[in-house]
Amino acid sequence: MFLWSASLRNRFTIAVCVLAVASGCAMQRFLRVEERQIDARLRFFLGGGGNSLVLTHGKQAFLIDVKFAGASKSLRHRVETELERSVRRAMVTHSHFDHAGGLDEFRNLGPVLIHPNARQRLEADGVRAQWIDVEGPLELQLEDEVVRVWHPGTGHTDGDLVAYLVHRKLLVTGDLVSADMEPVIDVEAGGDVLAWAGTLKGLLELDFVTALPGHGPPIGRDTLVRLHEYLTLLEREVSVAQQQGLSEDDVVAKVSLVETPALEPVPFAANREKTIRLMDRALRARRSTKE
Ligand SMILES: [Zn+2]
Repeated sequence: MFLWSASLRNRFTIAVCVLAVASGCAMQRFLRVEERQIDARLRFFLGGGGNSLVLTHGKQAFLIDVKFAGASKSLRHRVETELERSVRRAMVTHSHFDHAGGLDEFRNLGPVLIHPNARQRLEADGVRAQWIDVEGPLELQLEDEVVRVWHPGTGHTDGDLVAYLVHRKLLVTGDLVSADMEPVIDVEAGGDVLAWAGTLKGLLELDFVTALPGHGPPIGRDTLVRLHEYLTLLEREVSVAQQQGLSEDDVVAKVSLVETPALEPVPFAANREKTIRLMDRALRARRSTKE
C-alpha cells in the first residue's frame, strides 16, 4: 500500500513509529501481526505491513509477501524455527516496501515470482533475489495444491500479481483490493484509477469464494463487487461533470457518489477527494490522447 521505496526504509520506520502513536487504530492495525491458521497447511499473517500467506508442503513453505524488515524477521522465525519449514519459494504481489521490503530477511530463499515492472523498481532500490518474471499465468504444483499466479491488469500499480489457490477457491489480491479501504493509486508506479475497474471485472470472473486482500481481514466476493461498482460509478459521475465544462475543483464539488458507502481513508495515501481528482485527470488525459 505505502509508496516509499526500500532506500527510504529508515525514514519509513521512523514515520511509522510516529504515526502509530499519533493516529491510533488504523496504523496499529497496520503494524500488529495477527496469525490465522486456516488448516494444517495454510496460514494468513495479517498486518505487520501487507498481509502474508504461508502454504506448507512437506518440509517447505511457499510464501506470498514478506512484509517490511522488522515484521519479516518475526515471520521468518515463526515459519522456519517454530513451524520448522524452510521458505524456498516466494511471490511478491508488488514492489511496495510493506509487501516486499523484507526479502533480505529470508536466507536460503530460492525463486521469487514477481512482475517485471515491480522487479525493476526493487532492483533500482538495491534489492536482489532469484527473480522469476511473471506476466501471463504460471502454475505451481505444491503437493496436491495448485497455485496459479498472473498479472491481472493495472490498478494499484502496473506491476501487481495475484495468486489463486485453485482447490481452495482462494484469491490473493495484494493491494488491488484492501478490505473496504479507499483504493491507493500509485501513479508513479504506473497505477491507473481508470484501468482498475476492468482489472477487478476480470478477477470477478474467477470462481473464488474468499480473498486475502493486501490489508485487513479476509473478504468475500462482495468487497470486490463494491470496489468495482465504486470505480465504475466514479468514472461515470466524473465524465458527466466534465461534459458540463467543470474544472477539476468543481468536479470534486459536484461528484456525490451517494450510492457508494464510505471507504476508510488510508493516511497520507488515499481518500475520496484524491481518488476523484485522479479520475478527473485520467479521463482528461484519455480524451486528449484521442483528440
Ligand atoms: Zn501497495
